[in-house]
Amino acid sequence: MNIKGVERKVYFVLLGLLSDNLSINTFMGYATSFSSMYYCRFCKLDKKAAQTQIQLHRELNRTKSNYEEDLNKPFKETGIKENSESNRLKYYHAEESCVVDVMHDLFSHGICAYDFAAVLNYMIKTLKISLHTINYRIKKFKYGESEKQHSLKKNKKNHIRTASFKMTAKDMLRFVRYFPLIFGDLVPQNNEVWNFVLSLVELVDLVMLPSFNEHLLKILEEQIIYHHTLYTQLFNEKLKPKYHILLHYVQTIRKLGPPRYTWSFRFEAFHQIFKKYCRNITSRRNICLTLCTKASLIFSNNLNNANFFGIDLTYKNAVTVKLINMPYFALLDIDSNIHLHNFQASNNVSYKGVEYKIGYFLSKSSRRLSNIELYEIRDILIKNDDLYFVCRKWRISNYSEHYAAFEVTGPCDMYKIAEVNEFDGPPIHLYSIENKLYIRLKKYFI
Ligand SMILES: [Zn+2]
Repeated sequence: MNIKGVERKVYFVLLGLLSDNLSINTFMGYATSFSSMYYCRFCKLDKKAAQTQIQLHRELNRTKSNYEEDLNKPFKETGIKENSESNRLKYYHAEESCVVDVMHDLFSHGICAYDFAAVLNYMIKTLKISLHTINYRIKKFKYGESEKQHSLKKNKKNHIRTASFKMTAKDMLRFVRYFPLIFGDLVPQNNEVWNFVLSLVELVDLVMLPSFNEHLLKILEEQIIYHHTLYTQLFNEKLKPKYHILLHYVQTIRKLGPPRYTWSFRFEAFHQIFKKYCRNITSRRNICLTLCTKASLIFSNNLNNANFFGIDLTYKNAVTVKLINMPYFALLDIDSNIHLHNFQASNNVSYKGVEYKIGYFLSKSSRRLSNIELYEIRDILIKNDDLYFVCRKWRISNYSEHYAAFEVTGPCDMYKIAEVNEFDGPPIHLYSIENKLYIRLKKYFI
């Protein structure tokens, strides 16, 4: 690399390998079956104890030194099958940089499925809500225009019994987010199982945070313990391996950062593409080589393509406008001479892959959610590739614990113009329950 005319050699240190649970265990030399006695890649708690223990024991944590000692002991006593090839790297060790697989731990045949199996079973047996009603509620609920909703398959009794719901990880993520709004009005206030549902919803929100500090890590740690305690007490269940692995999230976040940056969603999305290739390729001599060749051709084509790193902002059919000529100008709260500028106005835009349309809602909140504001997009304006929204403010009255959502009372006669990055994130939607309007914040959601 040439830096200010001086040739420098740059070295990269491997920080971590991204993978799902099974692959990371395989690559790191650990047990590849989660029914093994020592299946955990983070500690050496045996599987019997891991079914009941909610507190972690530091002395059982795997370390570089005990990993090396355990290589000389039988697999049955340690859970280590072989030395990982990655340990030959000078600055990397299998034990020090183990990632977590949040997609499979929580959403794909994970904790959410186990939890909902127990909760739906309770709703059917104790609250006498029929399976037909449950399926109808799921089908009827509209997540909102921007959610790319597709219809979910009907849940059958055996899906609930075996916790094998017919939904993708992304569907499950959405289902957890909106579960309180889908079923909240069917469940009495202060119901203990409903409190457990809310603990899961909050846990998922926390795990999905884009950044952490010590305060948030402490809250996450307490939330995991609270959730697991309720699960074992309410349903008389043992903790499955994924519940145990979740206990290691706080220590992993401290080492490698938020789990959302190491998850497998994007990698698994490629499965569909490769499945299509497999169907179209007739040669079966070396299908893996063919797929690898395809993948490298696509990658090099993308690198050559000027659009690969994405145009942040795209829009169509824009017209030139001035704020001073707009009907809401008198209600607009502005303190600069922005109203004198010419803007391009469009009905919808795509910014960093997120679609914004007139009529969508955006939230603006402080870090600790002490101050939440809700805005409806009334105009979308562009100036020199900067994106602005002219928004109408809506009133938020209070937070409903039962629905895990904020109640919205209606619009105010106050308009403001703000840049896209001033808002929390992607658009959110209003949901109507028993003649009241609610929003769920999407601050931590994809
Ligand atoms: Zn462990």
